Formats: sequence, C-alpha cells, structure tokens
Amino acid sequence: MKSPSLCIDCESGRMRRVVEAYQSRSNDGNVVTIPEVTLYRCDKCDEVLLPAPSLRKISEYEANELEQLSAAQIHGIFDRADVTQKDFTSALGLGEKTFHRWLKGTQTVSRSMGYYLRAVDHFPEVFAWINDRKWRTPERKVARVSQRSVVVFPALAKREASGLIEASLSPGANPARSFVLDVVPHSSR
Ligand SMILES: [Zn+2]
Repeated sequence: MKSPSLCIDCESGRMRRVVEAYQSRSNDGNVVTIPEVTLYRCDKCDEVLLPAPSLRKISEYEANELEQLSAAQIHGIFDRADVTQKDFTSALGLGEKTFHRWLKGTQTVSRSMGYYLRAVDHFPEVFAWINDRKWRTPERKVARVSQRSVVVFPALAKREASGLIEASLSPGANPARSFVLDVVPHSSR
C-alpha cells in the first residue's frame, strides 16, 4: 500500500485519504453539500486536495442541485431567440466573453441568471420587451408610472411623486433597477 504523500503546502504533514461531505459555495452564494466526496487532507495544516473524479462529482452535483443550464441548453435558448449574438448579449446585459464561455461550457451560468434565461426563452415577448428598452444605448427608454400602478403598487406611485424614480434614472444609474410598467422614450420626456 502506497504511503500517504507529503503535503506540498506545509511540507511536513501527510495527505490522508478521507471520504466526507463536502460543502461548496457557488458564485451566486448558494451552498451545496455533496455527500461522500473522496479527498486528501493534510494531517498537520488541513490543506485539502480534490482528485479529478471528486471535482467532476462536485460539479455534476452542483449543476443538478442549482438547476444549472448546460452549454447545450444555452445554445438552444440563443438559437430560439433568433437574433445575432451581439443583439442577444447586448439586450440581456451580458458580456460577450462571458456568453462565449457559457456556450463553450467553461463557465457556469448562475442560478438566478439561469432562471432569467429560462423566462426569456419561455416567453419570447420578455426578450422582445427587454430588447426594446435599449438599456445600454443613449436611446434607452425610461419609466413612467401608469395610473394602473397607482392602484396596484401604491408605494411605487409614492416613490414617483417624491421624485425617487426619476432620480434613480439619472445618467449612469442602472435603469433596470426601477420597476417599470409604462415606458416612454427618453427623448420625449
Ligand atoms: Zn500540510
């Protein structure tokens, strides 16, 4: 039987093989506990090494737990949107590099972004609506609160009356942060 190897970190401890539950935190803050992961832990400094099969097990488990979209699913959503890559990324507020990494499968889509993309895919009018906002261009449209929203969202109407909504749409502010119901072109205000 092979003797446990020396720790590369402290150079005095030995890496012992253990099988235990492993906790992993995704980039959007979700914590996933993966049962029975084989890993090597230094008996002196607690340095941990994850062998390749364990890394694969962890990412498969995470993808399933966090309902992550696969690269193939991302391709499908993009194909169905039937627009150029530039229009797709620009409308959805994505970086082109990030989008490339999703398509190649080298970067995972966060859980929240996954939900968003599914909504865009399921309701083409959602994509059309976002695309029409032109949020990242000088022609972007800004919010006006409708009469209906005064009834449905009284707090929103109050915010508009106090000028808070207009204030949040100042240049450089993220217009997507405001709850918008009715929309008028920026130039006609
Ligand atoms: Zn060590």
